[in-house]
Amino acid sequence: MSQVSSSRVSSSSVPSSRVSSWGRLSDAEHSVVPITSADAAPAILQASAPGIARGMERSYGDVALNAGGTLWDTRSMNRLLAFDDATGILTVEPGVLLRDIQATFSRQGWMLAVTPGTEIVTVAGAIANDVHGKNHATMGTFADHVVSITLVRTDGEVIVCGPGDEPESRGWFEATCGGLGLTGLIVQASIRLKRVPGPWLLAEDIPYQSLPEFFELSDSSEQSFEHVVSWIDITTGGGRRGILSRANPVPSPHREVPPSATSLGAAKGGITFPVVPPLSLVNSLTLPLLNRAYYRLKRTRAGSKVVHYKPFFYPLDAVEEWNRAYGPRGFYQYQCVLPRATGLESVRQILAIVARSGQGSFLGVLKTLGDREPIGMLSFARPGVNLTIDFPNLGASTLALLSSLDAVVTEHGGRLYLAKDARMPVALFEAGYPRLAEFTEYRDPGISSEMSRRLLGS
Ligand SMILES: Cc1cc2nc3c(=O)[nH]c(=O)nc-3n(C[C@H](O)[C@H](O)[C@H](O)COP(=O)(O)OP(=O)(O)OC[C@H]3O[C@@H](n4cnc5c(N)ncnc54)[C@H](O)[C@@H]3O)c2cc1C
Repeated sequence: MSQVSSSRVSSSSVPSSRVSSWGRLSDAEHSVVPITSADAAPAILQASAPGIARGMERSYGDVALNAGGTLWDTRSMNRLLAFDDATGILTVEPGVLLRDIQATFSRQGWMLAVTPGTEIVTVAGAIANDVHGKNHATMGTFADHVVSITLVRTDGEVIVCGPGDEPESRGWFEATCGGLGLTGLIVQASIRLKRVPGPWLLAEDIPYQSLPEFFELSDSSEQSFEHVVSWIDITTGGGRRGILSRANPVPSPHREVPPSATSLGAAKGGITFPVVPPLSLVNSLTLPLLNRAYYRLKRTRAGSKVVHYKPFFYPLDAVEEWNRAYGPRGFYQYQCVLPRATGLESVRQILAIVARSGQGSFLGVLKTLGDREPIGMLSFARPGVNLTIDFPNLGASTLALLSSLDAVVTEHGGRLYLAKDARMPVALFEAGYPRLAEFTEYRDPGISSEMSRRLLGS
């Protein structure tokens, strides 16, 4: 479901809507211009620039926002155009949801090689943020499986680019993957799916009691499991406990396991968080209780079982609009990757600051990223340790807390994820993304977002 909360026709006859991103930190009017075909795109872009493309607004911050300006909406370009069963190459329009690809192809023995923690995102959105999943060590990022992209610029030029092309064309590809929608409008993409035995995984949950134990477990798991991720209790300071989950695809269940109500609930849309409560339901009173209860529940259920891919890959999709739980002021997600050499120390420092602050949430994710640099000039996922924490927006105190986390990330030479950001300082952005100067050569001057103005100055 999109994050558009209401819509009406403005005096200029372009539909104007209030649009928020997933963090719900703002709710501003945008002129939403639908783009329904690749052929129509050049003329529409020329007539309506400047603007920025939007997908499902599952990014947490301002990467797909343009308050008071234009949003190009390609969500209705959602057709699967061609599939080659010999190579696994699927050609799609930009608004196709990852959910539709997984549902259509998983029973035929194909799935996305890389998927983020929600499947309710568009292919173009996944390319523009070069998303990663729980299998970075073996599969890299989304862009590693993109074969070609068709891009339309606001001057009407059409560019087809791919990873194997000669340098000039490859440059467009590397700028567009992870390029935050700033190089042009993606109107078509071909991606290579991965062979799987079906929609099932053999998954295992293992409790851990310390950060060194997490690293040991994670490293040994990566030797024999494709998917590895952990939930960490961020209320316990040094990160004393968490649950590591690991999984491999398996042929149709060893034992007949019907997909649970939860797993199929997510597929059908499941439960929807009903209202925006007046205050965040995640606060200093509920926080330790929620984390303790979750840890105990998972610990008692630890062990191996065959599960459908949905509850393993997309546990948060089981409750639609769960982001409402943070109340009317919304929330920040802080996601950083820190070099592995000092990863234990830097993660420990961040968790200690967070625990002292009494802020945070139920969502703390700790995982390692594989030893591979990403294709995209502004892609996030690089070798190291990834830590992700949600924070209810309490105003100045939350911003001050996040600044103190920035200091740790800066000290250790880490970077923050642009798909999740709404406030990082320019200096941290520039330090974290060394290919920035190269990227700016490929920007489309007719494209601008709130994030690009905040971090790139235009
Ligand atoms: C519950 C949850 C879990 C998540 N887990 C992960 C995770 O594990 N890993 C991860 O990497 N991310 C994760 N994310 C983030 C999410 O995967 C990304 O933000 C994703 O890019 C959102 O896609 P979207 O379709 O909503 O695009 P939007 O958020 O609407 O836009 C994202 C970018 O795509 C651009 N864009 C959209 N359409 C086009 C187009 N046609 N042409 C050019 N540019 C376009 C926009 O301009 C913007 O720059 C998660 C998000 C949520 C809500």
